[in-house]
Amino acid sequence: ASEPTIIRARKSTSDDQKMKKSKKSKTTGFFIPDLVYFEPDALQYPKGKKILDWVQKQGIDYQMTTSHNRIMNFPGDTETEKYRLAKRTLVVGIRKTLKFDQSKPSAEYAIPIGTGCIGHCHYCYLQTTLGAKPYIRVYVNVDEVWDHAKQYIEERKPERTRFEASCTSDPLSIEHITGNLSFLIEKMAEEEHGRLRFVTKFHHVEPLLSLHHNKHTEVRFSINADYVIRNFEPATSRFEERIKAAGKIARAGYPLGFLVAPIYRYEGWKEGYEELFARLAKELPEDIRWDLSFELIQHRFTKTAKSVILKRYPNTKLVMNEEERKYKWGRYGQGKYVYPDEQAGELKDYISARIYHYFPTARILYFT
Ligand code: SF4
Repeated sequence: ASEPTIIRARKSTSDDQKMKKSKKSKTTGFFIPDLVYFEPDALQYPKGKKILDWVQKQGIDYQMTTSHNRIMNFPGDTETEKYRLAKRTLVVGIRKTLKFDQSKPSAEYAIPIGTGCIGHCHYCYLQTTLGAKPYIRVYVNVDEVWDHAKQYIEERKPERTRFEASCTSDPLSIEHITGNLSFLIEKMAEEEHGRLRFVTKFHHVEPLLSLHHNKHTEVRFSINADYVIRNFEPATSRFEERIKAAGKIARAGYPLGFLVAPIYRYEGWKEGYEELFARLAKELPEDIRWDLSFELIQHRFTKTAKSVILKRYPNTKLVMNEEERKYKWGRYGQGKYVYPDEQAGELKDYISARIYHYFPTARILYFT
């Protein structure tokens, strides 16, 4: 095995950044990484070869590496620059740990098809959980991953086994590179006792629309008031893009759900969330509006997350004043700051009322 190569990527100039910005403001295109690493064994798999072919056609710089754990030394003068480049780096490898993590209560298991995300949501929990490895890892041995999922399904029969595909990444954002989600959806369609679910902040749903899914995959969109998306969720799909994508998924017959998260108080929040549900109701076909699920999660932060966020997004407008929040003790010692009871109650009541106004038979699964 050779030593890992330390990559030297061109730093973007301010002109590049301006161009990227102006493109992003109109729409969010497919993610094209600036750098790609391949673990040598990944090229033994057809999917690895296919990705290599794609990388070459796109003219992207790539290197071989012995292990993703050895990718380091991203160029850049500041923590922010290094972090930004890491988030535009793709590592193509093999999933070695095939024991799935639990993913209670919404699913029995997390199914691993990728790790890391191209988005820059200021409050994303991956900021702290992925720590120093924010690059995006995709796995080429999805067949082996599936074989394990099958075993779990068999062991639990006749109980149903649910798999969550978005515990450590947003799988739709990298689907054009891997096709892993489509593969799982079609496999799961054949499983009487298996179900798949994932959540996304992206709109690139086209590859999923013509798949045979048999209603065994639930697609959830993470949605929010336009203000929240514009200010805190860079490099994800915009408000209008997500709503339209939800309409397409609904018309393709998938079970559909929404995660309204994080619910955030800002000047004008009531109008913002009203606009969200009104727009959604307009987009979704009449016949599927009766069976929608909503999960409501208020904004929260931990002390660790706050310090990471301020380092990576020093100009963020995200308000995280401990003295304006309520401290909620956590299971593992570290508590989090949520809205005080009265404000949280107002969020819950107002948003639930707007949801029931537009979708009278919706299921609000929880507010937390
Ligand atoms: Fe995190 Fe989701 Fe945003 Fe990606 S899209 S950065 S996973 S919150």
